[in-house]
Amino acid sequence: MYDVVIVGGGPAGLTAGLYTARGKLKSLLLEQGLTGGLVTTTEWVENYPGFDEGILGAELAQKMERQATRFGLEIKSASVTNISINGKIKEVSLESGEKYEAKSVILATGAHPRSLKVEGEDEFRGKGVSYCATCDGAFFKGEQIAVVGGGDSAIQEAIFLTKFADKVYIIHRRDKLRAEKILQERAFSNSKIELIWDSVVEKIAGDTGVNALHIRNVKTDEKSSIDVQGVFIYIGYNPNTEFLAGLANLDKDNYLITDENMATSAPGVFAAGDVRSKPLKQIATAVGDGATAALAAEKYIEENF
Ligand code: NAP
Repeated sequence: MYDVVIVGGGPAGLTAGLYTARGKLKSLLLEQGLTGGLVTTTEWVENYPGFDEGILGAELAQKMERQATRFGLEIKSASVTNISINGKIKEVSLESGEKYEAKSVILATGAHPRSLKVEGEDEFRGKGVSYCATCDGAFFKGEQIAVVGGGDSAIQEAIFLTKFADKVYIIHRRDKLRAEKILQERAFSNSKIELIWDSVVEKIAGDTGVNALHIRNVKTDEKSSIDVQGVFIYIGYNPNTEFLAGLANLDKDNYLITDENMATSAPGVFAAGDVRSKPLKQIATAVGDGATAALAAEKYIEENF
């Protein structure tokens, strides 16, 4: 029996694990992919305090993992398929058929990239269609590529991709970016970036790989095509809550609803990071959630066991 099982190993989960393990709670973190979560798919992080020159996303993730395991956090690679509550005990079921029991659970499963749902997207996934510039950017040295979206991710990654590509189009459905001002200014002053405003992608075309995007201007309805060898889709994220099957209350977009102590509607089950319904999704806010959830879990255990 664990005191705390944490599901998800991004900054929120690793911070929760650091606090619970350091607080001498028997703690297990389950992660199905790479420890570090979405941070590992970010090339360069420059708005997380403490690293005055910025830090590589992958290095920050490694540091967080080492810090938490130093205090005794156990980390296992596993995919969680279900969580059920039996009295006060939480039962965490894995894809492998194994089960763990815990006095409390912290859900830090984050979110996954949204897909555009246009013709060609599935066909050319991994053949020019990507959701991770850090992973795939280097394949496009000297090429023309496009980024779809107007938020922080789209603009930050478009700027990063200019390291490799000769030309980066940013295709955005409105005439204003959602991204923070500092990123907008950098994109506008980058000679390799060209903004295509008020436009949506209707088709990703190609043969063995992507070679063009068919786009439509939503104001004029004019259709055109641009030649690109790759397209990076950054149109937001969907929360990883499908496996919870009614365990706790979700908002209209399926993010977990919590109170200010990160408690979900299920007693002894807490949520932290991007999987939680909240206005600001940053590494800095995820680690705050993780710390709060850990201390709330500790209090719950003291009062209930
Ligand atoms: P986001 O802020 O939700 O932005 C998604 C963008 O995609 C928006 O510009 C949106 O257009 C567009 N979009 C959504 N659905 C679309 C569709 N079907 N077709 C075309 N365009 C579509 O997502 P994000 O940029 O991934 O950021 C997620 C969170 O992480 C945010 O809270 C962000 O601040 C944070 N983040 C922060 C940093 C940083 O601090 N440097 C870096 C990355 C992410 P509209 O603008 O018209 O809605």
